[in-house]
Amino acid sequence: MLTHNLGYPRIGSKRELKKALEEYWSGKTTYKNLIQVGKNVRQHNWQLQKNANIDLIPSNDFSFYDQVLDMSLTVGAIPKRYQALITEEIPVLDLYFAMARGYQKGIFDVTAMEMTKWFDTNYHYIVPEFYKDQEFKLFSTKVIDEFYEAKQYGLITKPVLLGPISYLLLGKEKESGFHRIELIKNLLPVYISIIKKVAALGAVCIQLDEPFLALDISSEIKQVYKEVYNELKACFPDVKFMITTYFEGVTTNLELISQDLKFDILHIDLVRDPKQLDIVLEKLPKEMQLSLGIVDGRNIWKNDYKASIETILKAVNVRGVENVLVAPSCSLLHTPCDLDLEMQNEDLPSNIKQWLSFAKQKLGELSALRVSVLYPEDENAAIALSYNSACIDSRRNSKILHDEQVRKRVSKLTIKDKSRKSEFLARKTKQKEILRLPDFPTTTIGSFPQTKDIRKKRSEFKRKEISKIEYDNYMRSEIGKTIQIQEELGLDVLVHGEAERNDMVEYFGEQLKGFAFTKFGWVQSYGSRCVKPPIIYGSVSRKKEMTVSWSKFAQSLTPLPVKGMLTGPVTILQWSFVRNDQPRSETCAEIALAIRDEVKDLESAGIKVIQIDEPAMREGLPLLKDQWNQYLKWAIDAFRISSSGVEDYTQIHTHMCYSEFNDIIDHIAHMDADVITIECSRSQMELLDAFAGFKYPNDIGPGVYDIHSPRIPKTEEIVGLIQKAQGYIPKDQLWINPDCGLKTRNWKETKEALKSMVIAAKELRAAIPQVV
Ligand code: GLN
Ligand code: ZN
Repeated sequence: MLTHNLGYPRIGSKRELKKALEEYWSGKTTYKNLIQVGKNVRQHNWQLQKNANIDLIPSNDFSFYDQVLDMSLTVGAIPKRYQALITEEIPVLDLYFAMARGYQKGIFDVTAMEMTKWFDTNYHYIVPEFYKDQEFKLFSTKVIDEFYEAKQYGLITKPVLLGPISYLLLGKEKESGFHRIELIKNLLPVYISIIKKVAALGAVCIQLDEPFLALDISSEIKQVYKEVYNELKACFPDVKFMITTYFEGVTTNLELISQDLKFDILHIDLVRDPKQLDIVLEKLPKEMQLSLGIVDGRNIWKNDYKASIETILKAVNVRGVENVLVAPSCSLLHTPCDLDLEMQNEDLPSNIKQWLSFAKQKLGELSALRVSVLYPEDENAAIALSYNSACIDSRRNSKILHDEQVRKRVSKLTIKDKSRKSEFLARKTKQKEILRLPDFPTTTIGSFPQTKDIRKKRSEFKRKEISKIEYDNYMRSEIGKTIQIQEELGLDVLVHGEAERNDMVEYFGEQLKGFAFTKFGWVQSYGSRCVKPPIIYGSVSRKKEMTVSWSKFAQSLTPLPVKGMLTGPVTILQWSFVRNDQPRSETCAEIALAIRDEVKDLESAGIKVIQIDEPAMREGLPLLKDQWNQYLKWAIDAFRISSSGVEDYTQIHTHMCYSEFNDIIDHIAHMDADVITIECSRSQMELLDAFAGFKYPNDIGPGVYDIHSPRIPKTEEIVGLIQKAQGYIPKDQLWINPDCGLKTRNWKETKEALKSMVIAAKELRAAIPQVV
């Protein structure tokens, strides 16, 4: 029984690679230094895995930006607009970064490739671009080089390749008249030549990531799978092919996998889908080995050895000990690096620390499991097992996990708690009376520019270098400035600007019960960007008000309505490490109740408009469509719980920043927010197609300009977009606002853009025929 790993985080436990990358991009460090940092990270990771007794250690899991982009470069899938950068003078790495981030230098001005979410994770990959009859060739030898590099350290690694079919499926056709899967015949020879080269250097086992084998795929794709994996095996009878699946179970494609594909080892994700084991054990041909993805690669909880050993023994009893491998459920890319770094973190209670396990610790878990299964008599194994049981029991029996009152509240929720008092139209009338807004009311999404000064004050306060009074006064003066600017601009519904928040989830997590925070729990989100998700370990509830004093202060400065600004329950859940000892839906309901309390307090404090942001609502959608409804039911319910405690005259807004609405528009409508603001401008209102066939009942603010770009939108463009929107949505349902929050922009851009926007609204109002 071997242990193996699918991939290790490459950003560095102290984010060494992040720092080196950003220094390189800003010209502060040399090419040579960046290459050296990459080398150090790889060597460190390999050594660490070796020390942890991992039998099959991956190579080519390192990346300077993204493993999908690596594959594009490897097979020469380089879009035309970058071809001019393929010269002697420009290092290939710069070409690679140009594809990831765009390139503006001298005569070159090329945009970046598109980026999108890696399945249902918070990792983003660079989307390959495909053209009809596209040719591929071995362009970058990274796979081979890294295998060779590890060999220099005395390691025979398991090269990791994104499988050819998943690679194609993850991309996009950039012209019509073909399907990208047709390119497989041109692509496969490049894979074959890579494998030939690493095999010649001594590789015995090759990992091919084919996550699409755990998803819904068409019969055409299945046919391609069959042909490709037959051909690969025929070419390399002596190489061991490990096909890895993750993020879902393989049950739906098990017939294909077990009867039609030729390979040697199948890896399955037993954390996401433990139930698949029985059927896989039964159906997978005897000559194939099975890798059990038993240690959670997506979450930070300690593995329960007793339970895992039982599972492993079940597999061992059916297939024999030599045919079973143990591994993390997926690449450890999605977990923080090293819990040891938290030992000095006094904010993280030590009992909670005992319940956690990060990437490095997860490797230790694998080898402990292996020893426990193979040598149950081993003394060290027994000690490890009993320590593990103690930790697991300590968590299971801990008093801080369950708050009976919270549980009771959740269990007593009724349909009434999830519904506003009256229907939307009745509410709208009451809100109109109170708010007295013009047609095409203007507003923003919440945050205003987060200047260096603001960030400095926040961190000084966090480090206790300035007093609470000094901090509060500073923030109040920022709020004052922001309110004044909005009044001068002529906006209708104002915001306080969110200067006190560094992150829309962390800000609430820090104030809620049931959350814990790490100091170094960074996880790569894209390129050099990392996030540090909070850990939800126990029942969630509110200690006291979280935003009321800021909102109340802001409202005291102006007669215009100021929006209270909250993060919604689904987004807080989605962007945290969530407890795994109760269903996500339950945790989400707890968060929803905490937000509901805050909403009510805002209302009592005289706040008439309250926005509950849910940018992560869509990304929570399960990978398999037949699970969508179940998710949407509890997710939308959670939003309704958070927003339904108020009187009719209180106007609830929500905000989402994505444009793929069509398939869930009816659910979005069911959220029943009085106003929804969405991202729209980049797709030129195309997403409004969703509204063409569906009569969206409530008010809506389709974002009129892209806040991700420094460009100032012209008034006539905005007028044009809103006129276009009127083709889908009656004008008395339309609001005018930017796409998203303005925190990443500077004040100059922000003021100019908003000025354009307000003038556009005025022009549109003037064009409405006046009834005399
Ligand atoms: N209110 C938040 C802001 O304006 C919303 C951010 C988001 O949608 N991601 O920053
Ligand atoms: Zn947004």
